[in-house]
Amino acid sequence: MGEMVNYIITVSGLVQGVGFRPFIYRLATEAGLEGWVLNTNENVRIALRTDQAALDWFIDQIRQQAPPASEIGAISVEKAPPEVFSGFRIIESENLSEAVTRVSPDIAVCKDCLADMKEQSKRLDYPFLNCTNCGPRFTIIKDLPYDRARTTMQEFTMCPACRNEYGDVQDRRFHAQPTACSVCGPEYTLVMGTETISGIQEILIRTANLIDEGGIVAIKGLGGFFMACDALNQEAVRRMRDSKHREGKPLAVMFGNLEAAGRYCEISDTEATLLSSWRRPIVILKEKNGLAPGVSNGFATIGTMLPYMPFHYLLFEQMKTRVIVLTSGNLAEEPIIIDNRQAEDILGPVSDAVLHYNRGIHNRCDDSVAMVVRDQSRLLRRSRGYVPNPVHTGSSVEGIFAAGAELVNCFCLGKGNQAIMSQHIGDLKNFETLAFYRETVDRFRTLFRLEPELVACDLHPDYLSTRYARELGLPTVAVQHHHAHIASVMAEHGVTEAVIGVSFDGTGLGDDQRIWGSEFLVCDLAGYRRLAHLEYIPMPGGDKATHEPWRMAVSYLYRIYGRDLLNMDLPFLTKLNLATVEQVIQAIEKNINSPLTSGAGRVFDAAAALLGLCTRSSFHAEAPMRLENIVSPVTNEVYPYDDGTEISMAPAFRAMVDEVMGGVDVGLISTKFHNTVSEIIVNRVAGISRESGIRTVALSGGTFQNRYLSSRVESGLLDAKFKVLFPRQLPSNDGGIALGQLVIAAKKREMGDY
Ligand code: ZN
Ligand code: ZN
Ligand code: FE
Repeated sequence: MGEMVNYIITVSGLVQGVGFRPFIYRLATEAGLEGWVLNTNENVRIALRTDQAALDWFIDQIRQQAPPASEIGAISVEKAPPEVFSGFRIIESENLSEAVTRVSPDIAVCKDCLADMKEQSKRLDYPFLNCTNCGPRFTIIKDLPYDRARTTMQEFTMCPACRNEYGDVQDRRFHAQPTACSVCGPEYTLVMGTETISGIQEILIRTANLIDEGGIVAIKGLGGFFMACDALNQEAVRRMRDSKHREGKPLAVMFGNLEAAGRYCEISDTEATLLSSWRRPIVILKEKNGLAPGVSNGFATIGTMLPYMPFHYLLFEQMKTRVIVLTSGNLAEEPIIIDNRQAEDILGPVSDAVLHYNRGIHNRCDDSVAMVVRDQSRLLRRSRGYVPNPVHTGSSVEGIFAAGAELVNCFCLGKGNQAIMSQHIGDLKNFETLAFYRETVDRFRTLFRLEPELVACDLHPDYLSTRYARELGLPTVAVQHHHAHIASVMAEHGVTEAVIGVSFDGTGLGDDQRIWGSEFLVCDLAGYRRLAHLEYIPMPGGDKATHEPWRMAVSYLYRIYGRDLLNMDLPFLTKLNLATVEQVIQAIEKNINSPLTSGAGRVFDAAAALLGLCTRSSFHAEAPMRLENIVSPVTNEVYPYDDGTEISMAPAFRAMVDEVMGGVDVGLISTKFHNTVSEIIVNRVAGISRESGIRTVALSGGTFQNRYLSSRVESGLLDAKFKVLFPRQLPSNDGGIALGQLVIAAKKREMGDY
């Protein structure tokens, strides 16, 4: 044995609330090491008195065997003054601000529990088993510190056997707050019309049969109810769409396992890793073929996930089909239903059965959605499995509440140096969603012990989030939408020095009172300069234009051809009522309800409508998605455009019109259109860089959820040797904006400027 020395090991990363301390305890005691382990605000600290060889071994083991839901960042070691320990212990902390950082996201059921489900007599086919490494967390937590009495598990009293495991530090269920077994835990109930069925075996058989025979079942998940049907059965899928009033939007599916998914989708290694990660997001994959056409509804991609609750595994054991549609249980744009009675009342009439269980869902949480671009994962919607993991901002954001945007709302709270983003809330213009927003803000304030003293909101005074922010009666910082988009990326990547910001999205109020959305900024957290944007174009009908992309096509064509457009032989025009087109032209000419916009989303709308892909959209961003969908990247050709501080795509539209009339393949036109937007971005960034000397580019905004565009812009900028920052942990759409608002407000406070 070598010389005995005292060491302090500091482990940073995602190490809180994921069973990390018991893991360290077991590791140390099994090796006969002495010392202690302690949670601090930012990391886990371990004291050991040992020799160099055992220390190296210990650190190796931490890296190799860490709990599945942990993500180890840095491990640092320093020598400490000599001290003798007796045994190894977990030091309990009473500090609440530490407890705050320990709320874990929900974790997919682990391998060990799946094995227990087939072996342990009291957990045979028991769908609510969990352990320190897995199970519900955020969705069941009501208050802190995190223990069973403050979760929706409070009404279930542990049986003696569960209690023993819970109290045994050597057991995998040591302090697993939601632990349960068939003797003492929650149960499922299947409601079919007037019949109520209990007993897991009977429930599994009935549910599986229903789905295999083309039925629709509303199933309670972790963060809310979902609607399930066989994804290979077109009639079932059609019925489900009708019942949900969801005409166009693609539906997500769950495959029984990765192998089944591979038969229907193309899956890269990175995508497979993401699909199988404990967070189990929906991952957007390229569809090969074979699912009912109504699932993706004309899109070449498919939102795919793998089982994450024990019940999902049991169901797939019983069902014949290897893939089910699993889409949120709500009507139209309302929040996902979490209450059993509401599910029976609202989802009951539109499904063949409702399957629920008697453990409450406290925090509503949709599935998260991710995609892989250039071999890196990006989030499109951040909810289950991710929330409430904080984003480390590197400076104090304490006491700040950021209200978020309006359409794809998430809000954000600052605690110490950490930004806690809410789960996906949705479109606040929906009445129920606004209620969900208010309720969730209150719950986060309670849960994370935050009394806001400073509020950040969007510059747009009419956003319902802005109005809510103003109602709080606190000092308020109004943040320009696109500045917030870029600040959010900066915060995520820990960048504070000035960057070139490229924010392409649908709409955001500019400081000239016009509608921005294709902004080239030079900015830091303190402020921005707007150096270029796409030219302003009237948006006839205002908000109506976002639902009717043909209006933007008419607006673009009017800009180029004037009234001659009425005589042009364009397929999309012939499908429109000429009187309506005439009205739109008059609105533009007389400047009636035709605000000017530089929104990139509107340019994509115009192109999609011009190509006849989407004249009216049935869901948010449908037109740009349909345009991307037909890209066949066989060309690097671009259309002409006028560069400058007001970049005009009129020459591109002129060329596109010629090609449409010449019968050129729409896929090729779409590709060239994307290539053009990409070139505009790369060139303008290069121009701004030449003047400013800045070499870091941060890009955000909903338009970058377009994979082809994103990936092409990124490679173009990398080729030009820029440092390129895209949002990865947060969505690039308005769901990520609250973080930017938060850090900008923090900066203003730091400068004494609000
Ligand atoms: Zn487990
Ligand atoms: Zn039990
Ligand atoms: Fe936006």
